[in-house]
Amino acid sequence: MHQSARSADHRAALETLHALERLYACDCSRRERTSGDAVYAGTCRSRRDPIRGPHALRVRVDPVDITIDDRIQGPFRMNLAALGDFIVQRRDAIVAYPLAVVVDDAALGVTDVVRGADLLESTPAQCFLQTLLSLPAPRYAHLPVLTEPGGAKLAKSRRSVPLDGRIASRQLIAVFDWLGLAPPPALARARVDELWTWGIAHWDARRVPRRPNLPLPAAAGPPLAPPPPAG
Ligand SMILES: [Zn+2]
Repeated sequence: MHQSARSADHRAALETLHALERLYACDCSRRERTSGDAVYAGTCRSRRDPIRGPHALRVRVDPVDITIDDRIQGPFRMNLAALGDFIVQRRDAIVAYPLAVVVDDAALGVTDVVRGADLLESTPAQCFLQTLLSLPAPRYAHLPVLTEPGGAKLAKSRRSVPLDGRIASRQLIAVFDWLGLAPPPALARARVDELWTWGIAHWDARRVPRRPNLPLPAAAGPPLAPPPPAG
């Protein structure tokens, strides 16, 4: 499903938020928004003068605690005041991720969201929108994210080691190990399809380490690296 085909539903959700008096226009520049405090101060919340130029749409949040019972990370609580009024439609009229994802997940009947723990902190905003829009909330499971030994995200710009399809079996076994599934040594000789069958049968969210990231071991070298060339 492409987001571009979903604009009618996104617009309907924006109209619902407008009817709830939760939306307001904001034309603050990036510099104004980030000066001093990283949280948007709500500058345009109570503006009386109409905004005529390009503007984003923000949703007015309440300073309430939102608690997520994450299947891997456990209870995660955040007060929406720490988030501030967030953008639901960008200045270029493109609907923002938190709104698109809750509307689209509901339309697709998504029951479980499994994704990287780097998105855990963006989840309370999505739960807040689900409540406002009377949409069902899926279950959440935020997996620890592999990082460089120093803790930085893996990225091409950091010359992180790319995955090598020639050693897919070894990589899958390493991932099973990181996910707490304790793969037996005999798996080392299994084919990729056999590994998937084993992994699906043994998947257990309760065994996954309850932490936001898993640094790759530095001493052992990059475990996802290809084998040294022969000869
Ligand atoms: Zn503003």
